Amino acid sequence: MPDNTDNLDDLFAHNRAWSAQMERDRPGFFTSLVKQQTPRYMWIGCSDSRVPANQITGLEPGEVFVHRNVANIVVHSDLNALSAIQFAVEHLKVEHIMVVGHYGCAGVKAALSGKRIGLADNWIRHIQDVRDRHSVMLESLPEEARVDALCELNVAEQVVNVAVSTVMVDAWARGQKVRIHGWTFGVHDGLLQDLGLSVDGAKPLDAVYKAAVQRIRYKWSKPGEVIQSLTLQGTQVNQSVQEAQAMTPQPEADGTTDPAAA
Ligand SMILES: [Zn+2]
Repeated sequence: MPDNTDNLDDLFAHNRAWSAQMERDRPGFFTSLVKQQTPRYMWIGCSDSRVPANQITGLEPGEVFVHRNVANIVVHSDLNALSAIQFAVEHLKVEHIMVVGHYGCAGVKAALSGKRIGLADNWIRHIQDVRDRHSVMLESLPEEARVDALCELNVAEQVVNVAVSTVMVDAWARGQKVRIHGWTFGVHDGLLQDLGLSVDGAKPLDAVYKAAVQRIRYKWSKPGEVIQSLTLQGTQVNQSVQEAQAMTPQPEADGTTDPAAA
């Protein structure tokens, strides 16, 4: 990364070097890109600079169609998101749409706390709707787990929003094979997680959604996962989930765990 943030020349220099390297490695790469894009995937993610779709998934230009906004929200009437989804499904014929949230999302944090940050409050209000819908569950969880639990609940909610859009309803009605997935990304370890929320137009959406919510509730109720959540919040902590879980107090003989120790 450039040291001097005012020197945009560095960005062009990096770009020229990247272009030359790509052409050396894959002669004719850009010429073939000009002809068409045939991505199999659409990524709907957060605008957060730490969550770049291509780099995370190892995909090259032309391989993933991307739509990003604050906190990866798909609003029923958002013509920007819906237009992108329509183009991806109807013209590019993508086979998979991933809604990807990330742990520690600032938009989700603001939604949970109710902290005012400006115009985006109105956008984040959509996540507060998710928060309010699951308020009983969220309040039952350890406080330190709630942001990341809400990140996952938000993904589940947005998967449903994509699924009920006219674009997807029409695509499935004409027999198009396209599946929606709910994923999260860990900024702390660079790893994606599949929330097991996969929608293909065949299985009842409501059942898939409810099962996902149950899994989220169970997951974040567990002390080991709470420690993972704490790890996610740390800035300097570089500790695997397995290590964190190894630190988790083991259940006593009677099957209980001291929550205070978590
Ligand atoms: Zn975010």
